[in-house]
Amino acid sequence: SGTGADPVGPATRLIVLSGPSGVGKSTVVREIRDHHPEVWLSVSATTRPPRPGETDGVEYHFTDDPGFDRLIAEGELLEWAEFAGNRYGTPRRPVEERLKTGRPVLLEIDLQGARQVRENMPGALLVFLAPPSWEELVRRLTGRGTEAPDVIQRRLDAARVELAAEKEFDTTLVNTSVQDVRDELLALVRAPQV
Ligand code: 5GP
Repeated sequence: SGTGADPVGPATRLIVLSGPSGVGKSTVVREIRDHHPEVWLSVSATTRPPRPGETDGVEYHFTDDPGFDRLIAEGELLEWAEFAGNRYGTPRRPVEERLKTGRPVLLEIDLQGARQVRENMPGALLVFLAPPSWEELVRRLTGRGTEAPDVIQRRLDAARVELAAEKEFDTTLVNTSVQDVRDELLALVRAPQV
């Protein structure tokens, strides 16, 4: 890494945070959204209904199935995936415009989406957020209290498979505390990547 002009391509400024559902990705991202507005976060589109406290355009762009179909058909999504019965996708244009300026972009997406980014944008840095233990992950998935039992079971099944994906990632952060992960992630976002 050098000084002056960014010696690396724009795609290398793309940082992808992924990991099992319930591991705490969205908590870390909320912390960054609330306290580090200088970090640019992609806002995904989803067909999932808003949870209490979520605002359209902040956590997600909430849409219906026909709306999501349209985004796919018009090539507006960088990647998308179905997760626990809902669809989630990254709007392409805001991300591309931001990367063109040479500044970092942070995506928080599921494993399927991370794989698509790996394929389409090989310069991206893939960061795996791991739970301190399986027991802790189950506790977090069960304790959220906002999902139906069948939804929780689907998320547990997905999480077991997703834990095995750690080896596909460039680096792992263990979610021992929100503050520690936030600081480690901020360091990755701010570091010149090579
Ligand atoms: P939740 O419903 O809990 O907000 O998110 C469920 C899962 O969808 C999480 O693993 C989250 O990372 C993932 N997700 C959120 N936005 C996107 C996206 O744009 N693309 C993909 N592939 N996954 C996403």
